[in-house]
Amino acid sequence: MAEAAFRCIECNEKAAELHRDYTNGILKITLCGSCQKPVDKYIEYDPVIILIDAILCKTQAFRHILFNTNLDIHWKLCVFCLLCEAYLRWSLRHSSESSDDPADIIRYTKEWEFYGMVALAALELLAFCGGVLLVLRAAAAAMSSRVCSYSGVGVDLHLLLRALLLSGYGKVLLVPAVIWEHDFLPLCLGFIKVFVLTSNMQAVRVILNCSKRLALSSVCAGLLSETIAVWMCQTAAGASLGGDHV
Ligand SMILES: [Zn+2]
Repeated sequence: MAEAAFRCIECNEKAAELHRDYTNGILKITLCGSCQKPVDKYIEYDPVIILIDAILCKTQAFRHILFNTNLDIHWKLCVFCLLCEAYLRWSLRHSSESSDDPADIIRYTKEWEFYGMVALAALELLAFCGGVLLVLRAAAAAMSSRVCSYSGVGVDLHLLLRALLLSGYGKVLLVPAVIWEHDFLPLCLGFIKVFVLTSNMQAVRVILNCSKRLALSSVCAGLLSETIAVWMCQTAAGASLGGDHV
């Protein structure tokens, strides 16, 4: 019997195939043995429709992307998102010092401060993922398989990390939000943050097939961990500057 490598996007039941190829060239979508609906209707859909459903945070679209595709761009997307975040902070810091002098523009491109911000964004992402994982591990250990589909403390690290990185795709919106300068920038950044966290929550919920409450708790813990990491970095930077002035 074939290995159940896929998931039904409707009921999360495992499935061996998404479609069956008959000898006369006819392809037929496989029906789920549990809910009797197509295992994955999205294999017939245009990628744009799938993206729109993912933006709407539909569980089915998340299951399709995370379980039934080999989308392997999470590390590239992660690096791009870190660069977007660093660019946002860098541009906000220098917006008040803007100058038309070409010498200033060249100086900015060479600034190591930008790379420091990339490192800071990476540290924040690490803290966020660590916080999420810590809560999920604790919950899985405390409640065993009653909460998570994975038994005991066996949260699948690779799947979870891939889901968290892929679901952070909303951070690419930071660049157009900064480029098109307007008075509502803080509001836009707030919306982007909420959107990314909602996507993260949905990704955790889909990967572990857990309750909304647990997914929300894990994302809140990640956010708290990220905030603590930022505070520690700011405190360390402040102490370092204070030490230099002594
Ligand atoms: Zn099903």
